[in-house]
Amino acid sequence: MAEEKMLEGKVAVVTGAGRGIGRGFAMLMAKHGAKVVVNDLGGSVSGEGEDSGPAYEVVNEIRGAGGEAVMNADSVSDWDGAHRMAQQAVDEFGKIDIVVNNAGILRDKIFHRMSEADWDSVISVHLKGSFNVSRAAADHFRAQESGCFMHMTSTSGLVGNFGQANYAAAKLGVAGLSKSIALDMARFNVRSNCITPFAWSRMIGSIPQDTEAQRARVEKIKEMTPEKIAPMAVFLVSDAASEVTGQIFGVRNNEIFLMGQSRPLRSVHRAEGWTPETIAEHAYPAMKNSFYALDRSEDVFSWDPI
Ligand code: NAD
Repeated sequence: MAEEKMLEGKVAVVTGAGRGIGRGFAMLMAKHGAKVVVNDLGGSVSGEGEDSGPAYEVVNEIRGAGGEAVMNADSVSDWDGAHRMAQQAVDEFGKIDIVVNNAGILRDKIFHRMSEADWDSVISVHLKGSFNVSRAAADHFRAQESGCFMHMTSTSGLVGNFGQANYAAAKLGVAGLSKSIALDMARFNVRSNCITPFAWSRMIGSIPQDTEAQRARVEKIKEMTPEKIAPMAVFLVSDAASEVTGQIFGVRNNEIFLMGQSRPLRSVHRAEGWTPETIAEHAYPAMKNSFYALDRSEDVFSWDPI
């Protein structure tokens, strides 16, 4: 029996698709019939340099497997570059249906040592880059009254992590961007969702491996291949998910999570209003047992990937 192709006739732009998770997306989307613009600037993990090699290889692999793909080496941080990506999809394949904002870099630094350049570079790739490419596609989506966005967020932002204030802020910003797009563009039949992935890639390849316990942990993490994220991505951008929008899904090896979104947790009320003193005496003790611990992603995802 022929395998069902869930993205037949669709055109996708996948950013940062030369390596890691984005490469897995581009390959599986193409396998499911999508024509793919494979974007990758090809720099180092911290965003230095350029190399069109990785994107070129992915395009060749897709073509070799009988799929259709073209390469784009623009930077998502560049407004004009982002518009070129969307236009390239239209010029090469006649339209654009799917945008996957996946490109990313890391400049981890403990907060009190984080420089302005560390902040600006990470915000400009993840947050501004996701805005740029989404905004470029939005004109097409609006005109054709259909389209679909998928953005990559992270538990570094949704939960917390050490040494990633720039990345955490950008990734929580991406979650807000996705929800806002879902609200603003629902009238044009446009959807927007996020994935918060867990996968072994060069981005997390710098985890220390000095002790036996650390080495065992890294071996476990290595089982989480980037390709494991792709099935959820293909589903989300397919018509099978036509009613799914404004959501955040976690994917970790063989586990899929629907992530919570912020809602009031406790409320306290005082008819005559509050003073700082009554807040200290009444509101604070009423709420403090519900405070969140100062936890990190690994405290919440405290069991080994399955
Ligand atoms: P990766 O480094 O393997 O891939 C990222 C790709 O983005 C690289 O090929 C890089 O060249 C490209 N890129 C960087 N800056 C670019 C720019 N300005 N324009 C175009 N391309 C650019 O990393 P990955 O682990 O595959 O990460 C993919 C996405 O998933 C990122 O958004 C990352 O933040 C997110 N993420 C990953 C993990 C994980 O566990 N790997 C966890 C949470 C979130």
